[in-house]
This record gives sequence, C-alpha cells and structure tokens, in this order.
Amino acid sequence: MDPKSLDFKTSWEYAPAPEGKEHIKINARYEHFIGGEFVAPAKGRYFETINPATEEKLSEVAEGSSEDVDKAVVAARAALDKSWSKLRASERGKYIYRLARMMQERAREFAVIESLDGGKTIRESRDVDVPLAIAHFFYYAGWADKIRYAFPGKTPRPIGVAGQIIPWNFPLLMAAWKIAPALAAGNTVVLKPAETTPLTALKLAELIQAADLPPGVVNIVTGAGATGAALVNHPGLDKIAFTGSTEVGKLIQRAIAGSRKRYTLELGGKAANIIFEDAAIDQAVEGIVNGIFFNQGHVCCAGSRLFVQESVYDTVIRKLKDRLETLIVGDPLDKNTDIGAINSKMQLDKISAYLKIGVAEGAELYQSSCKLPKKGFFCKPTLFLHCSQSQRIVQEEIFGPVLSVQTFRTPEEAISRANNTPYGLSGGVWTDKGSKIFKVSNALRCGVVWANTYNKFDPSAPFGGYKESGMGREGGLHGLQPYIQYN
Ligand code: NAP
Ligand code: MG
Repeated sequence: MDPKSLDFKTSWEYAPAPEGKEHIKINARYEHFIGGEFVAPAKGRYFETINPATEEKLSEVAEGSSEDVDKAVVAARAALDKSWSKLRASERGKYIYRLARMMQERAREFAVIESLDGGKTIRESRDVDVPLAIAHFFYYAGWADKIRYAFPGKTPRPIGVAGQIIPWNFPLLMAAWKIAPALAAGNTVVLKPAETTPLTALKLAELIQAADLPPGVVNIVTGAGATGAALVNHPGLDKIAFTGSTEVGKLIQRAIAGSRKRYTLELGGKAANIIFEDAAIDQAVEGIVNGIFFNQGHVCCAGSRLFVQESVYDTVIRKLKDRLETLIVGDPLDKNTDIGAINSKMQLDKISAYLKIGVAEGAELYQSSCKLPKKGFFCKPTLFLHCSQSQRIVQEEIFGPVLSVQTFRTPEEAISRANNTPYGLSGGVWTDKGSKIFKVSNALRCGVVWANTYNKFDPSAPFGGYKESGMGREGGLHGLQPYIQYN
C-alpha cells in the first residue's frame, strides 16, 4: 500500500471491545461492615454511588455517622484485645494470604466494579489496580511472622486500632495499602472509603467475611468527609492513616495535634518529568503520556509538569501532539480506551476551572480533536505550552489529564524548577546517561524518581512524599513501621 494513502486518523480507529458486566453482582444497597456483619447505619441514611461514565446510579450506600464510627472503633478494639492479638503471627499471615487468594479468584469482578464506580479504564483497573492490590496482600502476608526479624534488637508491638481514610483514585489499591500492613503488624482497622467509590471496598468486606477473618479486625464505614472527620476525632483510635488531598491532610493534622494519635499522611503531588536532549525521545513521549493521560491524570504521582531541554523541544512537542491525537477517550469498560471518565462532576468542574485559569494566565492551550461522549464526565487530553513557573497551573495540583510544559537549558535549571512547588511526591528523568540519572534523581526533593520509565509500582518499594506531599511511607518494610511500636 502506498504509505501516503494511509489516513493517519482512521488508521487508529478500533472496533468497540467492551468488557462484559453481565456477571457482575452489585447489590441495590450496601450497609457498613462492622464486627464481621453488615450493619444498617444508626441514622438510617444512605447516599447514591453512580457510574461517572453514564451518570447512572449503581447502588446506595450507608452514610456513616459518629454512632456508626463509634460502633466500628469499639468492634476493632474488641477484636484487637480478644482475638487478633491472641493469634500466632503465622496464623495472622495465613488470613492475609487467604484474602489475597480469594481476591485473585475474583479479580475480574473487582476490575469491572472499579471501572464502573470510579470511571477508570478497564485496562488500568484490570492490569494495575487489582493485581497490585492483591500483590500487597501477598507481600504483607509474608511479613506477618517475620516482624521481629525486620526490627532487630527491638521488640515490636502493634500500635493498636488504626483509622484509615482513602481517596477515590485507586479505591481498592489504597484499601490494600492501608489494610495489609496494618494487619500484618497485628493491628485492627476502621477504613473509610471515598464517597464516590465505595463499592470495591465493600466487595472486599464480603471476602473478608467469607475468609472468616475474626470479626472486627477489619471494619468499613462508608460516608463522605463528615464520616472521615468523625473517624479522625474518635478518641478510641491509636493511629490515623490518611491518603488524600493536602488540604484535608492539614485539617487532620490540626484535628489530632496534641492527642496520642500517631499519623501518616499521603497527600497531593505535582511531579516533574524531565526530558534531556540525549533521551530516547519516542520512549520518553510514551512515558509522559502514560504518566499523565492514562487514568485521567487521577494519580497523586502523575507527571503533570513536563520540562523539555530546548534543543529537542520542537521534536518532543510534535510527537506529543501526534500521540495525543491517537488517544481514545470514552467508555471505561472498552479495552481500547486510554482515558476513561473523570471521577465526578465536582472533579470535572475543578479541572475545567483550571483550563480557564491556564488560558487566563497566558499559557497556550492545546487539546486533541477527539469527540467526548454526550453523557458522563469526560475531559480531553490537554497540553499547556509556554508555561511559566509562577502560574497556578504549574504550581497547583489539577488532578486531571492536563500537562503543563516548560523548557530548560541546563540540568541545574531543570532541577531548581522541578523542585519549586510546595509538593515533593515523585518525578521522572529521561536520559541516555546513567550519571545524569544519579545526579538529577539525588537532587530532586521527592519520594520517588523514575528513570526512563514512569508510574511503576511494587509492594516491596516504599512510597511517600516530601514537603506538602505528606509524611510517612507506605509499601515495603518502611510501610510496616508506622504500624509498629517498640517496648
Ligand atoms: P480528599 O478530598 O482529601 O479526600 C480523601 C478522603 O478523605 C476521602 O475519603 C474523603 O471523603 C475524606 N475526607 C474529606 N474531608 C475530610 C475531613 N475533613 N476529615 C477526614 N476525612 C475527610 O482527596 P480526594 O479528592 O478524594 O483525592 C485526591 C487527592 O488524593 C489528591 O490530592 C491526590 O494527590 C491524593 N492522593 C495521594 C496519594 C499518595 O499516596 N500521596 C495517593 C492517592 C491520592 P469523601 O471522598 O467522601 O469526601
Ligand atoms: Mg461512583
């Protein structure tokens, strides 16, 4: 075929390939999971959870009040004292392992529900969220009977009862990051999922019940911010583990100041991806796209700022624009989709406001020419070109498929600009030179730096931020530490 006859756009069109949802069971209503039972909310109130890709109601979920939170904390304390702490560590490990196996058997169901409830692509939930969540349970199951070897010379003990609050961008994965290390270290927990994405945590509750985990070891109370606040303020907790926005993280820090509660905070980010002129450009462009556009930019460590060395700027931007044009935005359940639905109307409004702010600040807006579905919450993949350091779109977390682009001349300039935000969660370096990787990654003030790749996770690797991206680490041996105290 004459290559000139190839229409660049139509050659990227795919037939629909939707994942089936007929086999998925979502109850019409979900209660709290407290003391091993599904329990109606004390005030009898429920809220809807919807599919953000269609705006259709999926189910209704119990709204947690302070009475429900109290009941859950009491159940967690009783489980800690009466059952969980009495078990041999190896037995605790077996329960966590069993849970991982049961999740594995139901992986497809978890993936479809995650995409339905949160809007993320099935490719992401099937290939990233669910396998990684399971891997976390397997990994921490292995630690349960080795804790004393992990902290040599000390006698580690569990902290007690942990209140855990998670966001909507990785609902099941964040639940796994919270529950698995806490249980492995011998603690019991009360978890509050995000208001817009409670369903996979409640599915997990069904497995926890079926796995015969002693009642009260894991309790799940659903609700919005007020339920989270009730949990934070409950005097019966020994620790708060929070993942979410920096704004709420600061509120929590204030709320528990002066109390005996320990805390870990995993907060927002504004990661810089730095492309040097000696990088493999195609690979770098693909990594940038993966880092900000897949999962709708709903990733705390998303590479939302791009720094390109001046000499390769034109090439990188041309390739990036071409690639943007091929990204498929639409039905999250379609296996071809690259960018699914924005999680909620509220989040879409926030992103849309930033698009206006960026234009008003003088950045050049570029969006792909894709058509968005008529229903549901969607956003075109967006570049902001010719950005400057002081702009809000460069400094603030947008949490959507929006990339702000700047240029640089020297490594020093790239480093100082990359470090110049209130955040410090992650970063990326693209170069052919190992020495440059070491120099730049050591100089970046952030918890994770990926080199010639992006957004790669493993349960054995610690993750967490500097500055306003939070404190404490999750994952690996470091992730056990916040759930342990010493005699
Ligand atoms: P968010 O608004 O801070 O909410 C996080 C969780 O806190 C939700 O369960 C929320 O409930 C609850 N909450 C809200 N107000 C509260 C209060 N006053 N007291 C206690 N809990 C409260 O964050 P989000 O918008 O859901 O999530 C996005 C943010 O999470 C981004 O900033 C992202 O960077 C960050 N994140 C960080 C990491 C990390 O590891 N560093 C990982 C993932 C996400 P409702 O949802 O019902 O309001
Ligand atoms: Mg939902």
